[in-house]
Amino acid sequence: MSEGLVTASYIGAIVLFILTLGGLSHQESARKGNLYGIIGMALAILATVFGPEVFNNIHIIIATMLIGGTIGIILAKRVAMTQMPELVAILHSFVGLAAVLVGYVNFMGGSSLIGVEKTIHEVEIYVGILIGAITFSGSVIAFGKLSGKIGGNPLMLPARHWLNLGLLIASIYFCYDFVHQGHLDGGNAMMPLMIMTAIALIFGIHMVLAIGGADMPVVVSMLNSYSGWAASATGFMLGNDLLIVVGALVGSSGAILSYIMCRAMNRNFFSVIAGGFGTTSGAVPSGSSEEQGEVISIETHEVAELLLDAKEVMIIPGYGMAVAQAQHTVHEITQTLRDKKINVRFGIHPVAGRMPGHMNVLLAEARVPYDIVYEMDEINDDFPDIDVSVIIGANDIVNPSAQEDPNSPIAGMPVMECWKGKTTVVLKRGMATGYAGVQNPLFFKENTRMYFGDAKQSLDSVLKEIL
Ligand code: NDP
Repeated sequence: MSEGLVTASYIGAIVLFILTLGGLSHQESARKGNLYGIIGMALAILATVFGPEVFNNIHIIIATMLIGGTIGIILAKRVAMTQMPELVAILHSFVGLAAVLVGYVNFMGGSSLIGVEKTIHEVEIYVGILIGAITFSGSVIAFGKLSGKIGGNPLMLPARHWLNLGLLIASIYFCYDFVHQGHLDGGNAMMPLMIMTAIALIFGIHMVLAIGGADMPVVVSMLNSYSGWAASATGFMLGNDLLIVVGALVGSSGAILSYIMCRAMNRNFFSVIAGGFGTTSGAVPSGSSEEQGEVISIETHEVAELLLDAKEVMIIPGYGMAVAQAQHTVHEITQTLRDKKINVRFGIHPVAGRMPGHMNVLLAEARVPYDIVYEMDEINDDFPDIDVSVIIGANDIVNPSAQEDPNSPIAGMPVMECWKGKTTVVLKRGMATGYAGVQNPLFFKENTRMYFGDAKQSLDSVLKEIL
C-alpha cells in the first residue's frame, strides 16, 4: 500500500471515529456509532499493516495479531456483564503498558535527530512513558477495586498531597536530567528514565488507592482519558498521525466524561483526583441498622397489588439488576403494566451500576423503549406524583443520607429522591450496603417496603401475579 493510500485511509478512519463518538452520545444512534468504530478500526489496522513501514515484518504482525485477537475474543465472550468495568480497567492498563514499552524501545533504538528536534523527541518519549506508567499502575489498582480484590476504602496517607507534589516535582527534575544526559557524551539517560518510571508507577497506585468507593466512576473515566493521552504520546514518538488524533479523541472525550461524572456527583474534579472523597468519617456513617429501627418487608402478592393499583410507577435500576440479570423480566413487567394503562417510567442515575451508561445498556439489551427511560435530572422533581417507586438492586443512588448527613461519605452526591413518592419498594437480597459501604436510611422509612430476594427471581414471581 502506498504512503498516499495509507494517509487517505487514516483520514477516513479519523472521520469514522469522530462519527463514532457522535453516535455513542445517544442511545438511538449508539449501535450505528459502534459500527462506525468497527469499520474505522478495521480500516486503520489494514492501512497500518499493509503500509510501507510495517509490510516487511508482516508475518510477525499477523502472528501477534492472531494471538492477541484470540485472547481478546475468548475474554470478551467469557466476561459477564457485571465484570465489564473490570475488563475496561484492565484494557486501559494495556494501553498504558504499551506506551511504556514503545517509549523504552524508541529510546533504546536511538535517534539520528540533533539539537532542538532531538530534545523534542526525548520529551515525547519521557511524557509518553510518564503517562503510560501512571495509566498502567492506576488501571491495575482500579481493576482490583472494581473486582473487589482490593477494598473500596480510600488510603489516606497523612501527607498525601505533599507526597503527590513531591512526585510531580521529582518527575519534572528527572525530565530535565534525562534530556541533559542525552546530550552529554557518555551520559546515562536511562537512569533518570527508569527512576521516573518508578515514580509514575507509585503515583498511579497512590492516586487510585486514595479514591473512595463512591468516586470510582470518575476514576474509571479519568483513566480512560489517560489511556487516550498515552496513545497520543505514543503517536508522537512514532510519528504516527492516526495514533495522535485517535489518542487525543479518546483523551478529550474521557476528560469530558470525567467532568460530566464529577458534575453528576457534585464533586470537584481536582479534589477527587487528590483523593479523600468517599472517606468514611470517624462516626459510623448514617447509623448502623440497629440504630435506625426496623424495616418493613413485603410479600410478592402485595407488590403485585401495589403495582396494579398504581397510576404512576417509577423503576430505578442499580447494580443489583445487572448482577441478577433481571432486565428482561423488568421489560416484561413494564409491558404488562403499560398494557393495563399504568404509566411506567425509568429513572437512571448517572453513576448507577459500575460503569457509565451501565443501566442504559442493560435496558436497551432488553428492548425497553428509549422514550420511557429518563435521566435523573429529568424526573427527580416528579417523585411526589409517583405512586410506586421500584428500586431494583440500587442502594447508593437512592440514599437520602447524601442530602441529610454532611458526614456521610456520599454527602453532596445528588440522589434519586424516591422517598418523596407514595410508596417505595426496594428489591435486594439482604441488608448489605452498596459500593460506597454506607447504610441506607431509605430502607427504614415508613413508606418503604423491603422485598427481599434475588431481583430476577422476585420479579419473575411478581410478573406471574400481574399477568
Ligand atoms: P450499589 O452498589 O450502591 O448497590 C447495589 C445493591 O444491589 C446492593 O446493595 C446489593 O444488596 C444489591 N444486589 C446485588 N445483587 C443483587 C441481586 N442479585 N438481586 C437483588 N439485589 C442485588 O449500586 P447503585 O447502582 O445504587 O450505585 C452504584 C455505586 O457504584 C455508586 O456508589 C457508584 O459511585 C459506584 N460506581 C459506579 C460506577 C459507574 O461508572 N457507574 C463505577 C464504579 C463505582 P444485597 O447484597 O443486599 O442484595
